[in-house]
Amino acid sequence: MDQTLQRQKTDILILGAGGAGLFAALHAHQANPALDITIAVKGLLGKCGCTRMVQGGYNVALAPGDSLERHFMDTIEGGKWLPDQELAWTLVTGAVERIHELENELGCFFDRNPDGTIHQKAFAGQTFDRTVHKGDLTGIEIVNRLAEQVWRRGIRRLEEHRALDFLLDRQGALAGVLLTDVRTGHYVFVQAKAVLLATGGGPTMYRFHTPSGDKSCDGLAMALRLGLPLRDMEMVQFHPTGLLAGIDTRMTGTVLEEGLRGAGGHLLDGGGVRFMTAYDPEAERATRDVVSRAIFAEMGAGRTTPNGGVYLSMGHLGAANVLRQFKGMVERCADCGFDLAAGRVEVVPTAHYMMGGVEFAPDCTTERVGLFVAGEDSGGVHGANRLGGNGVANSTVFGGIAGETMAAWVASDRVFREPDEAALAAAIARAERVFALGPTTSPNVLEELRETLYQAMWDDAGIVRNAQGLARVAAVLEGLAAQLAEFRLPIDARDRAFNLTWHDALNLESLVSVSRAIVQAAQVRENSCGAHYRSDFPAPGDPAASTFTSVRASSDEALTVTTKPVHFSRVRPGQSLLAAA
Ligand SMILES: Cc1cc2nc3c(=O)[nH]c(=O)nc-3n(C[C@H](O)[C@H](O)[C@H](O)COP(=O)(O)OP(=O)(O)OC[C@H]3O[C@@H](n4cnc5c(N)ncnc54)[C@H](O)[C@@H]3O)c2cc1C
Repeated sequence: MDQTLQRQKTDILILGAGGAGLFAALHAHQANPALDITIAVKGLLGKCGCTRMVQGGYNVALAPGDSLERHFMDTIEGGKWLPDQELAWTLVTGAVERIHELENELGCFFDRNPDGTIHQKAFAGQTFDRTVHKGDLTGIEIVNRLAEQVWRRGIRRLEEHRALDFLLDRQGALAGVLLTDVRTGHYVFVQAKAVLLATGGGPTMYRFHTPSGDKSCDGLAMALRLGLPLRDMEMVQFHPTGLLAGIDTRMTGTVLEEGLRGAGGHLLDGGGVRFMTAYDPEAERATRDVVSRAIFAEMGAGRTTPNGGVYLSMGHLGAANVLRQFKGMVERCADCGFDLAAGRVEVVPTAHYMMGGVEFAPDCTTERVGLFVAGEDSGGVHGANRLGGNGVANSTVFGGIAGETMAAWVASDRVFREPDEAALAAAIARAERVFALGPTTSPNVLEELRETLYQAMWDDAGIVRNAQGLARVAAVLEGLAAQLAEFRLPIDARDRAFNLTWHDALNLESLVSVSRAIVQAAQVRENSCGAHYRSDFPAPGDPAASTFTSVRASSDEALTVTTKPVHFSRVRPGQSLLAAA
């Protein structure tokens, strides 16, 4: 068995190179340029993750008439009073500093008004137009500038390195992280004084999903194995209009932005009948959860398009007008053979974002000393719903804070911890399982397991849930975990370099593990709140008595879910900071 293991040391190890990871590296370096900082990333730095995919933009209270209090209240009310209020306040205040930093220090150019001020557009669920953007390619602008600055500072990069497990020393303190170099298949143990988890969540366990292909919830699965509590895991956000271009293209599931409905687009059932007016007075402009549930209901009733979704129709707004306003979207649809400007495009709700993640404090510390978290891997900022535009604000604000916190932490005489060698060997053995001797499995099995996962999560743990369905999907997940544990690579598919079948198996393990957390949290929440809708418990519950779920794994990977009261540290349900402002 080829188990080449290299060892490296670094003061700060950052897992992930999205908005959170890149900002953390820059801020840690700024705090102390002498620090040895390493970014390990599953893909290529600057080319992977969801921050790069951000289309719509970045929420920040800049304009006269807007305020931190207003942004905060929108975030809390959008999140159905479930957000941790200190985290939400850190988000809205930090966003102002971060957007200036992005423009004035890092070189981003955002769209501007004729008078030179930054243009801010409307986004759903907000009482003020506060979304800063660069056309509909905001994420590319942000990540390109961040990546350039990271390269310039000579921060060490481990690209195409996949994090596998956290390693502790024999006293239980964090010692570092085991990774594998995807290009060689060799193992790398990186010993670090501080580690940032910023692998970006990403609900890719659903049949239709938007996040980038490198995301498979690895970081959250690692956090579960480490015994960390994850909050709000039942809260998975679906975007109502993912492109439905057939099962044989990765374009299926990608987002057709909210602005299309905002501009007056109609949703039609398979027979061409407009249906949203029957569900909500706001019709197509209702919030993401309402529109997603309405489409799901139409699909359940069988009123679907040839590929099983509904139509988004823009033609009545004038083809030239649609092309002018949504050039990128029109071109993307044309690539898949659809005429968005003048015709109809098939769409389906698509899993977009995980509000849940590792419990953490505003300074990005976690329960485990030496381990920090930022971005979509963290939980508690958004509560039951994330406002469009608050995702990239979250990753960049908390990424920067994490960098500063880690630099200060390392400065206070921290030492390298030696890993428990038995645990290191066990972690390698875990990753090696697919190479073990014994009867091998056809690689096609992975495809079948993935299909089963996609369908079960979509049907029973998706947009509408109930006790029966959740019990059904829970049983499917146990079966999938058992089958994955038995999976062995075929003898002729054991070359470790770029072994995508091996990584597929690892991806599926992470997804099944995190799906279990989603399902068990959803079983415990017996009300309907934000993104979580239970047909057997449709009432929202009393916001003043809000609790959040907290999932934790024991050493045998069994999960327990507890509920904890939300602490209304700044404002109580029924009150508003606006009155006081
Ligand atoms: C299509 C799309 C459009 C969006 N539009 C908006 C928008 O308009 N506004 C908004 O606010 N938000 C938007 N979001 C959400 C936003 O992208 C995320 O909230 C945010 O960017 C997440 O940042 P992050 O740094 O946590 O994760 P990411 O940017 O996803 O970065 C995660 C990083 O972790 C790496 N990684 C993953 N697993 C491992 C592993 N095992 N080992 C090492 N590295 C690993 C990945 O390769 C990647 O580099 C959108 C998301 C999508 C998918």
